[in-house]
Amino acid sequence: MTKTASRFIHPANLPITALSGVGGALAGRLADIGIHRVFDLLMHLPRDYEDRSRRVDIRDVSHGASVLVSGVVTHVENNRTGLSVALEDDTGTLVLRFFKAYAGLKNTMQIGANITAFGEIKISRYGVQMAHPEFHITGTKQFESGLLPIYPATKGLHQNKLRQLVRLAIAAIKPKGLYCLSPADLQAAGVADTGADLLGALIQIHLPDSQADIFTQTALLQGLKERTHPACQRIIIEELVAHQLSFLYRRKNVYQYKAPRCQTDSELADKLIAGLPFGLTNAQKRVIDEAVADMATSRPMLRLIQGDVGAGKTLVAALTACRAIDSGWQVAIMAPTEILAEQHGANFEKWFAPLGVGIGRLLGKQGSKERREMLAAIANNDVQIVVGTHALFQDEVAFAKLGLVIIDEQHRFGVEQRLALTNKGVANSTPHQLAMTATPIPRTLAMSMYGDMDVSVIDELPPNRTPITTVTINRDRRDEVIERISANCKAGKQAYWVCPLVEESSVLDAQSAELLYEDLCERLDIRIGLVHGKMKAAQKQETMAQFKAGEIDLLVATTVIEVGVDVPNASLMVIENAERLGLSQLHQLRGRVGRGSAKSFCVLLYQTPLSPTGIERLNVLRDSTDGFVIAQKDLELRGAGELLGKRQTGDMGYYLADIVRDETLLVAAERIAHQLIEDSARQDLAHQIVSTWLPDAKEYVNA
Ligand code: ADP
Ligand code: MG
Repeated sequence: MTKTASRFIHPANLPITALSGVGGALAGRLADIGIHRVFDLLMHLPRDYEDRSRRVDIRDVSHGASVLVSGVVTHVENNRTGLSVALEDDTGTLVLRFFKAYAGLKNTMQIGANITAFGEIKISRYGVQMAHPEFHITGTKQFESGLLPIYPATKGLHQNKLRQLVRLAIAAIKPKGLYCLSPADLQAAGVADTGADLLGALIQIHLPDSQADIFTQTALLQGLKERTHPACQRIIIEELVAHQLSFLYRRKNVYQYKAPRCQTDSELADKLIAGLPFGLTNAQKRVIDEAVADMATSRPMLRLIQGDVGAGKTLVAALTACRAIDSGWQVAIMAPTEILAEQHGANFEKWFAPLGVGIGRLLGKQGSKERREMLAAIANNDVQIVVGTHALFQDEVAFAKLGLVIIDEQHRFGVEQRLALTNKGVANSTPHQLAMTATPIPRTLAMSMYGDMDVSVIDELPPNRTPITTVTINRDRRDEVIERISANCKAGKQAYWVCPLVEESSVLDAQSAELLYEDLCERLDIRIGLVHGKMKAAQKQETMAQFKAGEIDLLVATTVIEVGVDVPNASLMVIENAERLGLSQLHQLRGRVGRGSAKSFCVLLYQTPLSPTGIERLNVLRDSTDGFVIAQKDLELRGAGELLGKRQTGDMGYYLADIVRDETLLVAAERIAHQLIEDSARQDLAHQIVSTWLPDAKEYVNA
């Protein structure tokens, strides 16, 4: 950003309290719906419109619609519940309901009076009603004419207040306008020019002109509501470009540092492979080669490895790590949960300890002495591999020579956490970054979530997998399932019983897991264990360790076991209330079985009644074990927010763009962003676009 540009805050970036009449209390209520800056107000787009531009025949009104009617008063009734006024036009009658019959109202609502009213229609067994409408004697005044926006509202914020605020915001921005793309950019991207700039497009959406005829009007409103109108498309492309730009800046920011060049041949890797009881899959080899090629240069690697559950990502991580270690650098491995970190620790210990590589762990359960010693070992380069949770990146953790950071189950972490890693390298350098995710997502989605990373895909599973048979069973037959599981466990198999998801509350989930655990313990004489998210880390790990060691037959768990846990002898899984979980999540859960040689089963227990999509969804899972197919289906059925979790998509922070719906625009946006960032004459514009849409991106835009 240039000096002159940064000295003034653009009105779009001002806090809403800069608008006249917006004080702390109102700002607080606006903050509740995510409105902090003046720009946020502009991007609070109407969900619908009221049409006060034309009178509707009473015969034609429909439930829920806000309409303008006029007619003559034919009956008035005043009782305890308020005032009811029958209004009749040439086509029918409806009742205006007022809950307080104040004097002025009673004077106006006289039999024979001609009244024009506007309000929402309710059709019930009490007939056609309009509750507390706005009204006047026909001809005495005009309603605010034309189309009025209806905003997604919140408690204590009325439509009129929101309308007024949006108008204020538009007025505040008008003198300077908004930074945006040029008509040539849009044309190059194949986006229709609306004849307006970004602010113009926003005005068209907030304050649309009413149209002469009803067809044009209806088409306009539909286009605005469904976001297909060119003004909406304009805003979407601007937003997508801003995000793509921010990814490019993030890359640029990392690329200004050097990362350690690592050797491509690795004796350590050769030894590790020689000790494996199996060979690498071709996909594993290819992905390792891609990462190794990145690390051979001093440009920091920013690579994401996507691979279905069980694709063998951990080994890919280990073999990539070998190059850094052989070149004299330390490797940090970050996992999203203690259970996973512990498991990785054990795996790396098994693989590397015999080869003389020091493995360290940084875990929450460690006592302060143990932790202090570990911190010292990390700082002294006594350990070459350090495994942990995000605790790894706290300030007090200082690596001697960190050269590579591996982030497992990347989708569980936010962008900030990834950014924090760049600061852990030696002076003026940054470690290479390798992220791994088991949520297989389509390319465009990857582009909009991980646009700052190169993507490698492990598109092949190791050959030794026994296919999992998935069955869907009505919950009515749960007792039979319990019997079956018990018999199998007695025959030496191990099973997971994943507990009903109550709602988005880990407390309730934990309770329901405990109840299920008690119930199963009472009924069955097998060894049963319990893990849920509310348990202490140490307790969880102990139970997991027992399960892994075969000391527990049946593990009752909430979805905490979703990611990464590897117990090859477990070959049965029951998932209760499967209809409430996302397909990708179910697929991840199911990936916990089918890892050994035994024939594996996954039982999806569902509760009836089940909607047609509900059935379709479970069938997708029954019929496919391909994570990409399942993710694509999940995306179609539920949208990106559900597929990736609110946190992830929330992190993406889109106002309007929908990365599934707007897939084609996304491709254009990527192209425009590249053109912009490569054009030295337009750097300032590119910066301004990002700071308008993504004010939090400032840190890395300033690179
Ligand atoms: P994920 O990709 O889900 O993280 P893991 O890395 O946990 O998968 O690997 C799953 C299992 O597959 C592990 O037990 C691992 O040792 C094994 N595995 C990895 N690569 C291969 C391979 N090429 N052939 C056979 N088994 C493999
Ligand atoms: Mg894994």
